[in-house]
Amino acid sequence: MLFRSADSLCRLPVSFTMLALASSAPLSLVVQRAMPATARLATPRMAEFVETDAAVLDRYMNLPHPGQVQAEYLWIDAKGEVRSKCRTVDAKKASLDQLPSWNYDGSSCDQAPGEDSEVIIKPRAVYKDPFRPGDNILVLTDTYTPAGEALPTNTRTAATERFAGREDEVPWFGIEQEYTLFNLDKVTPLGWPQGGFPGAQGPYYCGAGADRSFGRSISEAHYKACLYAGIAISGTNAEVMPGQWEYQVGPCVGIAAADELMVSRYILQRVCEDFGVYCTFDPKPIDGDWNGAGCHTNFSTEKMRKAGGRAAIDTAIRQLGARHSAHIAAYGEGNERRLTGKHETADMNTFSYGVANRGCSIRIPRSVEADGCGYLEDRRPSSNMDPYVVTSMIFETIAEGNEELDIQESSVALA
Ligand code: ADP
Ligand code: MN
Ligand code: MN
Ligand code: MN
Repeated sequence: MLFRSADSLCRLPVSFTMLALASSAPLSLVVQRAMPATARLATPRMAEFVETDAAVLDRYMNLPHPGQVQAEYLWIDAKGEVRSKCRTVDAKKASLDQLPSWNYDGSSCDQAPGEDSEVIIKPRAVYKDPFRPGDNILVLTDTYTPAGEALPTNTRTAATERFAGREDEVPWFGIEQEYTLFNLDKVTPLGWPQGGFPGAQGPYYCGAGADRSFGRSISEAHYKACLYAGIAISGTNAEVMPGQWEYQVGPCVGIAAADELMVSRYILQRVCEDFGVYCTFDPKPIDGDWNGAGCHTNFSTEKMRKAGGRAAIDTAIRQLGARHSAHIAAYGEGNERRLTGKHETADMNTFSYGVANRGCSIRIPRSVEADGCGYLEDRRPSSNMDPYVVTSMIFETIAEGNEELDIQESSVALA
């Protein structure tokens, strides 16, 4: 229900008004007795948000539209964030091979000059739309100039080229996406006192209880929405810093890992929009003795997963070590604030690896050591990393048989 001004509020012919409380519980309704008109004029209620009465909205959302599908086209903007707009398509043509290319105003996304503003978007993957019931879809696209060249911010094209021709290695990625929830002031994380600090880290990681779990409903809604969409979401957990959460996408093969991670980020922003909560992927949202947010990238090839695969894992680690600084430079903006050597990170200037060691650049899971095969975990990428860049770079470094760093397993202790 949207109130435009005190004037329109006065004209309401009802004896009570229903006000949704946007700040604390936007989906709930509170019935308030109407105040005298003069009092209401003195405290006009401004329509800052369009507030949602779930039952009223559902009346529209559940209307059938046979033969037609709403296709929400998603693209990645100049900052690596996902934007979208919608069009109607014939239900018989709502498949990836039949969906049309489209365009958007690139000058409004810092991706094209005003005089030649069209960016062409080409459908690359289709998912079910968890926000619109029925057969409606999300369409992930990538971005081109009208002449057909990939935009500089279209990192998907370069990633596809890096994966091409090596399908027999069957690269798997499992990405652990961490994120932090804030009040709409963008200053106060969920569960934190305004202008102050909560109790020190310790009880929050995977914690249960009103004094330690903040934002679970968002994590839950996002998990279900991703499952519904067809994203290979493999789990979720509360993180070390209060208000911080994680979910995992994968294992996915090749380019699908980055595609699904980008769509999962979009779904998360949409869920947070519904709950009136701000979500950031900043790698160190709060300075000081608080954990940052990463995007650990778990990786394996067919060879690593097979019996005796540990040898291939060790070679891969030495190859990653030889290109450490190139990887660090590509692993996310602001990552230097996070990779300090504290808070379960390795110092960004040193490459290290170890079994079950969360203070290393690369961790070999305990189970992999026991089995003699499996995967490695690259702990360096930041939560805001570009998954097309990170996944394809790991694959390229390992697949090309590059030089190897002469390094022993690290004895770095967990800080
Ligand atoms: P952590 O113990 O570091 O918190 P998580 O359980 O959060 O690990 O995430 C591990 C991720 O690795 C999951 O997404 C999982 O699907 C993925 N994974 C498991 N096996 C493999 C594999 N062989 N190759 C790549 N990724 C894998
Ligand atoms: Mn994890
Ligand atoms: Mn984590
Ligand atoms: Mn991890």
